[in-house]
Amino acid sequence: MSINTVRFSDFDLKPSIQEAIAQHGFETPTPVQEAVLGLPDVLSTDLVVQAKTGSGKTLAFSLPLINDLVAGGVPRILVLAPTRELAQQTAGEMEWLGRPLGMSVAVLVGGVPIGPQISQLRRGASLVVGTPGRVIDHLERGTLNAATIESLILDEGDHMLDLGFRDELESILKRMTAIKRTWLFSATIPDSVRYLVRRYLKDPRKLTLSVDE
Ligand code: ADP
Ligand code: MG
Repeated sequence: MSINTVRFSDFDLKPSIQEAIAQHGFETPTPVQEAVLGLPDVLSTDLVVQAKTGSGKTLAFSLPLINDLVAGGVPRILVLAPTRELAQQTAGEMEWLGRPLGMSVAVLVGGVPIGPQISQLRRGASLVVGTPGRVIDHLERGTLNAATIESLILDEGDHMLDLGFRDELESILKRMTAIKRTWLFSATIPDSVRYLVRRYLKDPRKLTLSVDE
């Protein structure tokens, strides 16, 4: 291995996070993870990250966010994903990362009963991953409070818009009154994504890692 290889330990991550990564068997960050972790003051900026499927985007946003978070009784991070399967996958990755820090994940997806999701939220999940429709359902019922969410991640932005979630995404974006950062991750940046970025993100920094198509 080259002596120039960047390792997770080169970044300012809490020891318990370094340990969780090592236990999971990951040694080196992928290029998108390295790029996001290496951005100065990444937590004080909106972001648009273009990187292809399978490039490791989940940890790219989860590492800096979870590293900064103190486990508490309310959701601080909301990740929106296009499908139930992708939401579950993303939640799984955030779970092993957050667990050593005492953080749990609530998964808010459609097509399944809402009761267990409300229980997950009541038990004090710090991290929430969901699909747009079910997330709106929880916001409207008051089982998820937009005012506690500090970080909003639009994961697979292009895919969510392809699936027709534009109105839902705008409705969620408009409800985020306490938001400190909105990060959009997408494999491609079509006009529909550009529109959302222009309208709802504040001076986003843009990272382009590799491009699909
Ligand atoms: P994307 O969201 O960009 O499609 P994922 O975040 O789902 O990609 O990651 C793709 C796969 O790579 C997952 O199985 C994940 O566990 C694995 N992975 C992510 N980061 C690393 C890493 N630094 N080292 C090894 N495997 C990784
Ligand atoms: Mg992903």
